[in-house]
Amino acid sequence: MSIEIDQVNKRFGDFVAVDNVSLHFNEGELTALLGPSGSGKTTLLRIIAGLEQPDSGRILFHGEDTTDKHVSSRGVGFVFQHYALFKHMTVFENVAYGLTVRPRKTRPSKEEIRKKVFHLLEMVQLDWTANRLPSQLSGGQRQRIALARALAVEPKVLLLDEPFGALDAKVRAELRSWLRRLHDEIHVTSVFVTHDQEEALEVSDRVVVMNKGRVEQDGHPEEVYDNPANPFVFDFLGNVN
Ligand code: ADP
Repeated sequence: MSIEIDQVNKRFGDFVAVDNVSLHFNEGELTALLGPSGSGKTTLLRIIAGLEQPDSGRILFHGEDTTDKHVSSRGVGFVFQHYALFKHMTVFENVAYGLTVRPRKTRPSKEEIRKKVFHLLEMVQLDWTANRLPSQLSGGQRQRIALARALAVEPKVLLLDEPFGALDAKVRAELRSWLRRLHDEIHVTSVFVTHDQEEALEVSDRVVVMNKGRVEQDGHPEEVYDNPANPFVFDFLGNVN
């Protein structure tokens, strides 16, 4: 599923959070939205998701204008910084959730759900945690479960907002390679927000650098790293972590 962002603007009061951004994300690509805090990354991601409406501009999924479509009909999977797992549900129930709440007609059978959930749990190598509660897992494990849960509904688009931001450096590094591996297996069009330069360069196929609501740079990770359009942004990012 390709995504087209066409001249999107978003203000909060007088503050311009997203300033006339146009971007095209190719089918199956893993793109990092990189930029300092306050540069509009999350706002742009939320607009792609349909959680926020732009003041002007359009979002097209595979050529179809989705700007006014409700978030639930867009086929989007999310992973957020603070694991939004349901605390009172087991790991199995968390991953199965998106499948069990489907309308009866499109809902898979119990056996199909079980198979699918275990397949996903095996992919993130956490099938042994199926009957545990999220509180019994480490932060990194919970984020792997969050990834499995997001993928359970076979999203056409996967959006990740600082998915590893709350974790320590070692776990973050591990999860980066998880994300890369899962993406290579599933090939879903993915956009992930980060202010961590290393993370963006290591994981993604493409890096879009944002600053003050605008796109500063857009290209392959090496290209962006070797020829930063705005060295100040990179110095700043480098100092963040
Ligand atoms: P980033 O993800 O790059 O840190 P954000 O998109 O979260 O940036 O935010 C961009 C700016 O927009 C921030 O300065 C923030 O204060 C402002 N902003 C974001 N959401 C809201 C909101 N709902 N109401 C008011 N201001 C907001």
